[in-house]
Amino acid sequence: SETIAAIFRNIATNGSHPAVLTTASSDPASTTLAYADIRGQSERFRRQSALLHGSELPPGTVVSSLLPNGLPCLLVFLATTLQRCVAAPLNPAMKQSEIEFYLEDAGSAVLVVPEGTAEDSEGVRAARARGVAVWSVAWEPQAGLRVATLGGAPAEPPAVHREQPEAPRPDDVALLLHTSGTTGRPKAVPLTHANIARSMRNISATYALSPDDRSFVVMPLFHVHGLIGATLAALYAGGSVAVPPRFSAGHFWPEYAATGSTWYSAVPTIHQIILRHDIPADHPKIRFVRSCSAALAPSVMEALEQRLGAPVLEAYAMTEAAHQMCSNPLPPLQRKPGSVGLPQGVEVAILDDADQPTHLGEVCVRGPNVTPGYLNNAEANAKSFTQAEHWFRTGDQGYLDADGYLVLTGRIKELINRGGEKISPLELDAVLLRCPGVAEAVSFAVADEMYGQEVYAAVVPAQDAEVTEEQVRAFMAANVAKFKVPKRVFVAKELPRTATGKIQRRVVAEHFAGPQ
Ligand code: ATP
Ligand code: MG
Repeated sequence: SETIAAIFRNIATNGSHPAVLTTASSDPASTTLAYADIRGQSERFRRQSALLHGSELPPGTVVSSLLPNGLPCLLVFLATTLQRCVAAPLNPAMKQSEIEFYLEDAGSAVLVVPEGTAEDSEGVRAARARGVAVWSVAWEPQAGLRVATLGGAPAEPPAVHREQPEAPRPDDVALLLHTSGTTGRPKAVPLTHANIARSMRNISATYALSPDDRSFVVMPLFHVHGLIGATLAALYAGGSVAVPPRFSAGHFWPEYAATGSTWYSAVPTIHQIILRHDIPADHPKIRFVRSCSAALAPSVMEALEQRLGAPVLEAYAMTEAAHQMCSNPLPPLQRKPGSVGLPQGVEVAILDDADQPTHLGEVCVRGPNVTPGYLNNAEANAKSFTQAEHWFRTGDQGYLDADGYLVLTGRIKELINRGGEKISPLELDAVLLRCPGVAEAVSFAVADEMYGQEVYAAVVPAQDAEVTEEQVRAFMAANVAKFKVPKRVFVAKELPRTATGKIQRRVVAEHFAGPQ
């Protein structure tokens, strides 16, 4: 098996090929780094970190970071993993207590923050409270990555460095991320070099990525979607990535076009926002668009395909699988709205509670991209891997259609159980989104004396549209069985979402209907 260093396998012939580009909104110089540059910068980071640490970082050292998307963020990840250490990137929007939890859970030795971060910032306070060293990074246009102890002097790399870096091994843990915590407390997921290398290879094969492709990265690099799905897969193919600091509706198309990007991958929320804004009439080059991480309503997919004139490919992924498991394929193969497509380099099985194959049941996966198991969580591991065949249980419910396409029907924990009748919230969401004037919708379970749980829903009207509870309920009554019609529909300006744009139905239920 391979390691993340596989992105450099063609460096001898391809060293000057562009690898990473910044965008104008954050970097007026619009920097482009070639493959040889990013490898050189990784070396520079290694030498500077050895100076700061007093010796080479021992293999397995966990390096956490709180960095916005950009060159330092990506380079710190690559440099850390290529020197056999473990990258644990964190969401910079988090508060002290959350950061402390992640530092502690990951066993971090170092926290990397942007140069100029204040001592009393959430991240630095968290690191100080946990005795974690704090390093700052900045990008210097002339010299490149500058690493220092926070507030201290930069570590000037010695001109000559004798030690040869030790190459990472396939079984080394490269990345430690936590699941999104949609269904409970986030679980720590170690991903090895082999897991990630296999995932980059799968994704690059699914979309036939080539050196001519350029991914416009709008997803955060502290989750597998942005890091592996949008970035590493592109580099594995010898292509390049353009990395703005964040998704911005205003900058999206100008910067997508200016950087010569050819595709992007995003969550449905971002696609919805893109649809609400003008799309330039002279289409920038779009080979395909990828949607992943939450259900893409068929109506949104169709609208996006029409507006962009490009195929929109929905994929299915999770942290534990180093991102992608399934995806709809490129034309001329068929893409099916409402389905997450075909298994991509992984095995998929639908199993019942007794680990037996069934039609509608828990989606299970197996493959070289799947994590060896949660960190320090024997209970979750025992529940998540089947004993005999070592299938990984995703917690999602679904079925394979006659063509082998996977259809998800919801998270097992989120199915609405109305008097014993299991109702798929994903199915209801898709119908709600077809209701005229509805832009966003979510159905969820609310505790009910009569049925145990009742179906409720919340909708956000489209711009300039007026929608009432009665209209939505009437529409639902005309389109789904009576027992699935939401008892109540809340009309709201927005839906509560997680940092990754996901809906936590439990949170939505509490938001609209009080403690459950
Ligand atoms: P936790 O495991 O802590 O509850 P999480 O499952 O949301 O959080 P992630 O690993 O970020 O954490 O997300 C994986 C989940 O996202 C999948 O198990 C699935 O429920 C959902 N998901 C991913 N892609 C899709 C998709 N295309 N359609 C519907 N759901 C999807
Ligand atoms: Mg999960």
